[in-house]
Amino acid sequence: MSDIIQLLPDHIANQIAAGEVIQRPASVVKELLENAIDAGATKIDVNIKDSGKTLIQIVDNGGGMTPSDAVLCFERHATSKVRTADDLFALTTKGFRGEALASIAAIAHVEMKTKQPEDSTGTHITIEGSKVKSNEAVVCPTGTSFEVKNLFYNVPARRNFLKKDSTEFRHIMDEFERIALSHPEIHLTLAHNGTELYNLPSEVLRKRIASILGKGSNDKLVPIDESTDIVELKGYVLKPEHSRKTRGEQYFFVNNRYFKSTYFNHAINKAFDGLVKNDVFPGYFLYLTVNPQKIDVNVHPTKTEIKFEEEKFIYSILVSSIRQALGKYNIAPTLEFEQETSFNIPHSMRSQMPVEPTVKVNEHYNPFHTTGAKTGASSTGRTTDNFSKGITQQGFGNEMPKSEDWQNFYSIEEEEYETQPIEFDLQAESGSSFLIKGNYIITPSKTGLMLIHARRAIEQIVYSEISNSFISNPITSQKLLFPIEKEISKNEKNAWMENNAMLQQLGFESSLEEDKLIVNAVPSVIQEEAISGAIDEIFATIAYQEMEKGDIAHTLIGAIAKSASMKKINLSSDEHVQSLINQLFQCENHMYTPRHKKIIETLSLNELHHKFS
Ligand code: ADP
Ligand code: MG
Repeated sequence: MSDIIQLLPDHIANQIAAGEVIQRPASVVKELLENAIDAGATKIDVNIKDSGKTLIQIVDNGGGMTPSDAVLCFERHATSKVRTADDLFALTTKGFRGEALASIAAIAHVEMKTKQPEDSTGTHITIEGSKVKSNEAVVCPTGTSFEVKNLFYNVPARRNFLKKDSTEFRHIMDEFERIALSHPEIHLTLAHNGTELYNLPSEVLRKRIASILGKGSNDKLVPIDESTDIVELKGYVLKPEHSRKTRGEQYFFVNNRYFKSTYFNHAINKAFDGLVKNDVFPGYFLYLTVNPQKIDVNVHPTKTEIKFEEEKFIYSILVSSIRQALGKYNIAPTLEFEQETSFNIPHSMRSQMPVEPTVKVNEHYNPFHTTGAKTGASSTGRTTDNFSKGITQQGFGNEMPKSEDWQNFYSIEEEEYETQPIEFDLQAESGSSFLIKGNYIITPSKTGLMLIHARRAIEQIVYSEISNSFISNPITSQKLLFPIEKEISKNEKNAWMENNAMLQQLGFESSLEEDKLIVNAVPSVIQEEAISGAIDEIFATIAYQEMEKGDIAHTLIGAIAKSASMKKINLSSDEHVQSLINQLFQCENHMYTPRHKKIIETLSLNELHHKFS
């Protein structure tokens, strides 16, 4: 039998490749815009006719091409952006496959004019179905202009499957907007059938987002700005009340490249949890900057899916920084605290020098005669003589409160509560607060009322205090009279050994035997009854979940803080309550506990009036 295998002719191979890269007119717009950006353009004009079916024209003022590159650029795998395999892992350009122009030229009538700044004449090339029809010198401005006509003229199946004009044009708008949002510094215009739809001058990001979102949108944006070793996160989320019933205003960019990610989208939903209804989609414009070597953009031909090496870490940064930003925005109108935005825990964990932990036992410590709870903290300053220090450094001791102390937890009786509102001064500055049922603090604010969940506030205070200082200031330990013994598996033993240094910093003193863990001392903030549960929680975190060290520390500190908040705490006087409030507002995140439970609820004057109308 004779041989039957043949190499496909180039124009057919190009047509097949085109099927992957160019699915619709919008794909052409995207590829040509990206090329213009890679060429360093500062102004790009897009002119569309009949939703791109008749004409897609893109004119840029970038670097242009030499006469020979102008021919070569239409060859498959012709690219100026990747020279070695290593380049693929350090991409700083949008294109790299060298496929787009070859694909477009295979399925349309293309006309290109291009000129480099140093040349007096440029090159004019026409190409149809991968065949060069003409190539001549031309007088033209510096930069490159493409006209793509009769898209899919030789692939009728594709052409017939195009959607109605309005749908195809919507896709073009989407691509245009994504590019506009990733490059606010570039002047971009878009016209359709002779009507100019966008004329976006070079502008700052916030303004560009507002230009795309439309009039009045500037006020809807909440800034996000977070910097860690692994990722830099910038951008804006829309205030919860501006979430929409449809997806749409949801944009992720990495190194200025738009991408889609259900995983990261989940992080955003988590951050908005409790602030929006289930059936709406929070809006966001989030820009990640990561080392290009830590991402792989090569997984998808149209490159909207990207693999991240450190996606779990980025996930948690997204959740916490957005929560924090939303929290601040929520409370900002009522309280004027100067808070820092930075989410510095993972950062500080890395930069702090570890200090050998010591075990201190304060046998005489009595939580109900604490001197730690003073009102010395100002609303904006950070003082160290504070409530949480009282908790973390001295511990609460393990004594049970006397019965009269216990009464203090219910310092305002139901009856009294009924009479209080009469004297409630809405103009009052923070300072006069009320404790209800030992757990709910009501305090007036400039624009209404604030309700604070005291236990959760304590949880958050302890959490912040420990996370900010535990590496340089190991947590005070409490020696156990009767060490706790626990049978453990090999896996648990390994996990404990691996994390022993961190556990020591957190106040756990232990030894390991064959199949046993013996705990001799625990963080003094943990109440006795909770120790066993806390150890179980530690194992659940270190032995059964895949987590980064920073996340493990977070989770463990969260568990310790929760346990600490269950201790009996003296809130009997106004001063104690005020001190708690001050402490809370010194936490970077005062709206939510590490477990994402709400700490503060606000009631505006309007809402109050409404309730009585
Ligand atoms: P890729 O962008 O993946 O390199 P393309 O097929 O999109 O592949 O483009 C091929 C090459 O043509 C590019 O690498 C670039 O050198 C050149 N090129 C394309 N468009 C432009 C442009 N607008 N200005 C200057 N050079 C361009
Ligand atoms: Mg390209």
